Amino acid sequence: MIEVAIDKRLDELFSEMVSIRRHLHQNPELSFQEVETPAYIAEYHRRLGNEVKTGVGGRGVVATLRGAQPGKTIALRADFDALPIQDEKTVDYKSKVDGVMHACGHDGHTATLLGLARALVENKADLEGTIVFIHQHAEEYAPGGAIEMINDGCLDGVDFVFGTHLWATEPLGKIQYRSGPIMAAADRFEIVVQGQGGHGAMPHLTKDAIVIGSQLVTNLQQLVSRRVDPLQSAVLSIGTFEAKNAFNVIADSAKLIGTVRTFDEDVRTLMENEIRRVVDGTCLAADVSATYSYYRGYPAVVNHEDETMTLASLAPSVPDVSDVEEMAPQMGGEDFAYYLQHVKGSFFFTGARNPELEIAYPHHHPKFDFDERAMLIAAKTLGRIALHYAKS
Ligand code: MN
Repeated sequence: MIEVAIDKRLDELFSEMVSIRRHLHQNPELSFQEVETPAYIAEYHRRLGNEVKTGVGGRGVVATLRGAQPGKTIALRADFDALPIQDEKTVDYKSKVDGVMHACGHDGHTATLLGLARALVENKADLEGTIVFIHQHAEEYAPGGAIEMINDGCLDGVDFVFGTHLWATEPLGKIQYRSGPIMAAADRFEIVVQGQGGHGAMPHLTKDAIVIGSQLVTNLQQLVSRRVDPLQSAVLSIGTFEAKNAFNVIADSAKLIGTVRTFDEDVRTLMENEIRRVVDGTCLAADVSATYSYYRGYPAVVNHEDETMTLASLAPSVPDVSDVEEMAPQMGGEDFAYYLQHVKGSFFFTGARNPELEIAYPHHHPKFDFDERAMLIAAKTLGRIALHYAKS
């Protein structure tokens, strides 16, 4: 059985996956600036004999493996960009690039997919269907690499798509799945109130941008509590309020910047429109003008039900998987969302917390790290679901 052969080969390839991961970890590249990473990935696939396309959607790499037997076409995606964070770990494989670090585990995603690619290539004679390896640049920085890669054809002919995120705060051995929305749409908005500055002792001759901005902060909080259906969810947070003056000067303008997170596209549109209404209404009452911009980030990641439940039923039989659980949706964003808008599939989480370590630093932390054994579990789980759908 090919599944057993793949698992066995992955066990043997584990040390190679670790060295790939550590090489990438030491040489991280920022989103939309990746050069060496895609070249390294493309070279690895070429050596395996896969068909390789580079520069897909800008900097992505797509490699294709055609099995000797007929079947469906399954895409597996791994992202490969790093973050503008200074690596504060003391390990010998820490980042060699100042201020840049793989602090989200995308190095691990890449090593996982390369290891799996090698195991599958070596079992090509028994492989039914086609496996497309999507190595994506720029996941961390909207508009992201996924949408460009899709526009450039990376999903052409693909029947199903799967991907996983190594998750360093969940225990090693755990697979988390969820049907429907699993990660939020992450948007940003900016409001600039244009009042009329003046002397702090003569407020009647001014239009105080700080007072009006403060009303906006309060009024906007009513959107989630009074406009969004209580059975839906949304977050509105204002992270920036800028209006700096001397103590005796009334502010001429104020700038507010915030984020909106939603799972449902209608709620998302409602929030975008209602913010405008609150801005217009508050400013009308105060007789000032304002500019309002709403920038849509990634849409929500919405998993397809059949593919997710199939994953949930296959995962318990994957070696070293000790726990398979349905997870709560989380408010982070992921541009895997776009693949799922085009092709059926599922995105899941692979626990990567080292049980011997007391502290598991969260993703995007300067001391972030994960248990590398999670790559093996991720590769076996992705392999299992790909083989299942390829022969369907
Ligand atoms: Mn990530």
